Amino acid sequence: MTSASGDSFPPTLDAREREHLVQVIKDWSIAYGLAVRPPPAVVNNDPDGILAINAPVTLFPSPFPKSCFEEARAIQRAYNELYANISRDEDFLRDIVQEVAGGDDFIANLWNVHLRVKKEGYVQSLALGLFRSDYMVHRDDDGLQIKQVEFNTIASSFGGLSAQTSLLHKHLAQTEYPLLQDSSSVSSLDLPPNESTAGLAAGLKAAYDAYGSATSGHPKCILFLVQPGERNIFDQRHLEYAALRTGVPFVFRLTFPDILARTRIDPADPSRALLYSPPHNPSKTFEAAVTYLRAGYGPGDYQTDDAWEARYHLERSRTIACPTVLTQLAGMKKVQQVLATPSSSELEKFVASRATRDALLRTFTNIFPLDATDAGLEARRLATDQEACQRYVMKPQREGGGNNFYRGAIPEHLKTIPEEHWGSYILMELITPPPVANIILRNGKLEQGGVICELGIYGACVWDQADKDRKLIYNEESGYLLRTKGDQSEEGGVAAGYGCMDSVLLV
Ligand code: ADP
Ligand code: MG
Ligand code: MG
Repeated sequence: MTSASGDSFPPTLDAREREHLVQVIKDWSIAYGLAVRPPPAVVNNDPDGILAINAPVTLFPSPFPKSCFEEARAIQRAYNELYANISRDEDFLRDIVQEVAGGDDFIANLWNVHLRVKKEGYVQSLALGLFRSDYMVHRDDDGLQIKQVEFNTIASSFGGLSAQTSLLHKHLAQTEYPLLQDSSSVSSLDLPPNESTAGLAAGLKAAYDAYGSATSGHPKCILFLVQPGERNIFDQRHLEYAALRTGVPFVFRLTFPDILARTRIDPADPSRALLYSPPHNPSKTFEAAVTYLRAGYGPGDYQTDDAWEARYHLERSRTIACPTVLTQLAGMKKVQQVLATPSSSELEKFVASRATRDALLRTFTNIFPLDATDAGLEARRLATDQEACQRYVMKPQREGGGNNFYRGAIPEHLKTIPEEHWGSYILMELITPPPVANIILRNGKLEQGGVICELGIYGACVWDQADKDRKLIYNEESGYLLRTKGDQSEEGGVAAGYGCMDSVLLV
């Protein structure tokens, strides 16, 4: 135990100390790339896009139970394997897609991409997962237990900034906290190392190597598929630079709307190599061994039929997609619900070891379908009851934050959709972590008070979809993310403007 678990956390700061700490963090953040491009609301005059500001961060690492942190890390490789196995099980995914697709065109369209490629035959059976399993600490009669919020199989972000945040807090613990007048709660801190950037880059490299030689005669590369105007660009850049440091010679950024213009598959090439020519030198061509999606996770990226053609084009190519369509679909919230439903024996299908299943089950909280099954009808009763709904969050099959309905908003929203489409949502019990306080620095302003922390554990894995023995070629736990938000906010996304970067202080 460190002293940080006491009531005196975070330390009381006087005005001079606050100002000094903020200045140190502002400078360190820019010096070490703990930064984002500013939102227009903060800077309305940056026509050349030259400005960067520090990412929102806590002034102190947040106390986090050591046993919970260790449990989350220890189980990550089992989670990687579970989700690799789910993505291999087309029948399982088809059943789930059918349950939600009626009320969800986006999921239906993704499934159609898979069906189209399946019809002509996949040429690439290798897949790369750069996953993140998210948890909150739940306190019950047995003590503290991590409970999974969700499992991300696409565009799991902040690995690049997270390692930097851990370094920032380490720096402050060495140089600044000892000088505070009220330093007792922040002396001799247990700050675990965080190799999230290097860990994810190692996953990219493993897939790059597993790809084998280029068939086109052009040099191999990795493509980062991104959204135009991305503000969280330095997070992505850290990962790109780390991938280059592993020995991958070429990494390019390509925006989702430019896929069809900048990449091609030679119709005469049976191996369907994905060829890329950079706009700044179109005479050069590269073969995309790995395509890492930081876009394409939600309907916003598919406003035109061309966007769906682009996704199909990627999926049918030889590039190792991170993720494939099936791996993306494995991340549906509905999958998490089916695994967590006590009467379902699905987990047994995917995880052979009883002990591993029990360890996974401990991290599940109650999640209910909203369909016409008995469990679904009971959940519909809870979701439409003004009092009962206060304990729940309702989620559609979406990623990226800002899509959920909380408490009293659940019955209201259900009234606006036809009952036959309720099954495309899931109902999840709210996890209520023990109270923690901290100070957040966001856009130059400090916010002090109660906070809620969400721990994410990254996992990197490479597997062969067609391997009957269900082995993984590469399987690692790859560092962590701690995101913190004010306790008045339901959502926690940093990019969405709700949360901030943090690191763990083990207690
Ligand atoms: P997304 O894929 O959009 O990130 P999440 O399932 O992570 O969706 O939900 C977004 C946010 O909502 C989470 O980061 C968390 O802050 C909050 N949240 C989601 N589920 C729960 C839950 N069961 N208990 C408490 N908060 C939750
Ligand atoms: Mg998500
Ligand atoms: Mg989330």
